[in-house]
Amino acid sequence: MFNFLQQVSNYAKQTFQAGKYIGQGLSVTFDHMRRRPITVQYPYEKLIPSERFRGRIHFEFDKCISCEVCVRVCPINLPVVDWEFNKESKKKQLKHYSIDFGVCIFCGNCVEFCPTNCLSFTEDYELSVYDRHQLNYDNVAMGRLPYKVTDDSMVTPLRELVYLPKGVLEPHGVPADAHRAGLLPSEILEQAVEDVNNPHS
Ligand code: SF4
Ligand code: SF4
Repeated sequence: MFNFLQQVSNYAKQTFQAGKYIGQGLSVTFDHMRRRPITVQYPYEKLIPSERFRGRIHFEFDKCISCEVCVRVCPINLPVVDWEFNKESKKKQLKHYSIDFGVCIFCGNCVEFCPTNCLSFTEDYELSVYDRHQLNYDNVAMGRLPYKVTDDSMVTPLRELVYLPKGVLEPHGVPADAHRAGLLPSEILEQAVEDVNNPHS
């Protein structure tokens, strides 16, 4: 008799839990039913890439010292640094530099460890080509800076969800100067400096 009652009690508990989980799942569904679809009319509208977006890498030829640190820290030894030794100046002289963005995984190691900061990420994500060999960028191609979405008069820039003001889900029609939800990195820094200077405030 006791066993039977325990089984009934366990069954009731499991039924209650299953009902709770179904309710939780459906609450997400119902929440989405209230939202309207947000369509970005690419290429007439484009999302503004986030501040730390890892797009195509930019290279500054004159700053490169041919140290090949970028090759050693790259998980696939991808950058090609073509240099020759200059006997007069007794220094390495860079001839060509290239990265194949068809193979690059955009991990950022080369950008992070380059001692002269001649590599940097851009916000260029439009890298589609018909032939993948065209993604093998030489130093000339890597030296070009992409056109910023916010500077392109042919394009309407739209903010990503995390950069919208608090409670706003629709990026169309948001004023350019509207403060995004949460603090900006510069504001966090300011606050941290203030906390250090006035620890008891
Ligand atoms: S790490 Fe920087 S300076 Fe050194 S070879 Fe690579 S790009 Fe040039
Ligand atoms: S981003 Fe990563 S994978 Fe691409 S070249 Fe640099 S180190 Fe290599």
